Amino acid sequence: MTHGELIKYGQDILKNAGIEDYENDTRVLAMYAFDMNYTGLMMGMLDEASAASESKFKECINIRATRVPCQHITGTQEFMGYEFDVSPDVLIPRQETELLVEDGLAYMKPFKSCKALDVCCGSGCIGISFSLYRQKAGYDDKVTLLDISKEAVHMSKRNITKLNANCNVILSDLFENINEKYDIIMSNPPYIRTADVEELMDEVKLHEPRLALDGYEDGLYFYDKIIKEAREYLSDEGKLLFEIGYDQFEDVRRLLVDAGYSDITLKKDYAGLDRVVGATWKNS
Ligand code: GLN
Repeated sequence: MTHGELIKYGQDILKNAGIEDYENDTRVLAMYAFDMNYTGLMMGMLDEASAASESKFKECINIRATRVPCQHITGTQEFMGYEFDVSPDVLIPRQETELLVEDGLAYMKPFKSCKALDVCCGSGCIGISFSLYRQKAGYDDKVTLLDISKEAVHMSKRNITKLNANCNVILSDLFENINEKYDIIMSNPPYIRTADVEELMDEVKLHEPRLALDGYEDGLYFYDKIIKEAREYLSDEGKLLFEIGYDQFEDVRRLLVDAGYSDITLKKDYAGLDRVVGATWKNS
């Protein structure tokens, strides 16, 4: 079969399996199985696929049809222009999380050197891309990532090596093993209410780590803890930045105000939903 015929075949299977984004997913899996970039794939539609590519592609499509995310098949996800390795042990980096990194970069822009912490790092996408962007601009930072999961720490280390970033990762239950102060603390903690986890699509509910999703009963468990504990680990005028769920701003804002933070900001994502909250800690 030609690459084009295989793509049609793949799209039909995924469409029948009820995969909403079947066109995109087929393309992603085709590029992976045929080892081609987007341009190569478009130019090579009429070319005959090798037997090996054909069977690899069909296998990928069959796996995807069972609701395994594409990223678990290819083992990667692009984030802030970098290709991160992922596995079922870590949350797949989401595009909206790039807004958090962009905010972090904007806040720290005036500072030639900073100390930054990524709490609940998972794949390491936040801390690593923050560090790489600043590294590229010639800044001299100390960026630390932490996670409670050994597997996440391992994956973050793998991504640091793969992307040649200058950061370190610590196994730590929130701030348990932290004993320094930071100019910026960034976190995309688990924030789904336990009851809502069941409502998530199968790709997420069955294939992504519950540990990375579940924010307990009211979804606010980690915000509450991080907001209170971070006061001890933020330098004067230090920034705390969170990704939040679309309906959590008022609750998170109240937690920040009650804990004594100021300059609370909110940024919406491209879908117009509340997404990134920032706050400043001032030693008074
Ligand atoms: N910081 C990682 C991310 O944003 C992991 C987040 C998590 O596990 N909740 O993708």
